[in-house]
Amino acid sequence: MSANCVFCKIISGAIPATKIYEDDDVIAFNDIRPSAKVHFLLVPKLHIDSLLGCENEHQALLGKMLLLAPQLAKQQGLAGFKTLINTGVEGGQEVFHIHLHVMGGGNQSRNS
Ligand code: AMP
Ligand code: ZN
Repeated sequence: MSANCVFCKIISGAIPATKIYEDDDVIAFNDIRPSAKVHFLLVPKLHIDSLLGCENEHQALLGKMLLLAPQLAKQQGLAGFKTLINTGVEGGQEVFHIHLHVMGGGNQSRNS
């Protein structure tokens, strides 16, 4: 838990979000500014700033997130989807609690 982190606040219930999945390790909720018909964020409950802050000890957690993405995407009605992890200010990251974007629905262009 990091005091001023918006995703830690969602995890603790201090800020509302439209949750689509939760277990002991991760939470998934709809992005507040969706850039696709379906756009949710898959977020570990452990506060890690970004991919740059990941260590070997996070391997299972990162693998779990990647394996959950298609399961949750299917539950959201998607047959295909995009995934994105923005990393660092120069990588377009705005919220410094690592998260995986999952986006789909409609025709997705190849690189955006
Ligand atoms: P980024 O850090 O650039 O990968 O993206 C952060 C994402 O978090 C953006 O797509 C925001 O729309 C989303 N976001 C920020 N605050 C909230 C919130 N309170 N609930 C849901 N999504 C949020
Ligand atoms: Zn956090």
